Amino acid sequence: MATISLNGVTKSYGDLQVIPPMDLEIRDGEFVVLVGPSGCGKSTTLRMIAGLETVTGGAMHIGDREVTHLRPGLRNCAMVFQSYALYPHMSVRENIGYGMKVRGTPKAEAAEAIDNAARILNLTDYLDRKPAALSGGQRQRVAIGRAIVRDPDVFLFDEPLSNLDAKLRVEMRVEIKQLHRRLKTTMVYVTHDQVEAMTMADRVVVLKDGIIEQAADPITLYERPANAFVAEFIGAPS
Ligand code: ADP
Ligand code: MG
Repeated sequence: MATISLNGVTKSYGDLQVIPPMDLEIRDGEFVVLVGPSGCGKSTTLRMIAGLETVTGGAMHIGDREVTHLRPGLRNCAMVFQSYALYPHMSVRENIGYGMKVRGTPKAEAAEAIDNAARILNLTDYLDRKPAALSGGQRQRVAIGRAIVRDPDVFLFDEPLSNLDAKLRVEMRVEIKQLHRRLKTTMVYVTHDQVEAMTMADRVVVLKDGIIEQAADPITLYERPANAFVAEFIGAPS
């Protein structure tokens, strides 16, 4: 488990600053949801935490380690994407185990980690199937399984459910929350869906144009929105 802290972190693309200095402290084991309209900087923030995007200014720590310019493989963060990014020619077992194979994890250890992740995600009966023979929800579970076997300090989710239909989306929200309760790992979850944010988060961070408008637990956010933008965005009475 790990805390994450951003101190004056900025991101610019050329002359365009998309994240002005951002301060954010995420507690050990917290489930934080970054929410806001399209283009507000959610993915950029998440990708900077993952190390997939360089940080322009400021400093970032995970636990007591400074990671500001550390490459992704050294951060012990696992990212789950919207697009699943599964290998179509590989079985579920091979997809979940791919990273371990690349890293040279001993076979028996890898097999145990795969079985454990499959049990947690109800994929035990599907380990020999190819992604094409899975439902959308099962594919998303495989993507989560790939993150679980890494035993990361931090899970990062970028709109993992937006390709799923409404019913499945609700089911998967519950599953991801169950996973959080089980693993108690720090999780940062990005969505543009305010209902998803309000139902899943320990704490919601509302972004607009790269600026944190408010960071609070769902009830506080609903009862005491900091401004009209927050109230309107989350659908609270203002
Ligand atoms: P969100 O995930 O909230 O929809 P993003 O973090 O993807 O938003 O993008 C934030 C802003 O940064 C947007 O204005 C987007 O156009 C801009 N942006 C993202 N990636 C790049 C890039 N590689 N080059 C230039 N601008 C980018
Ligand atoms: Mg995005």
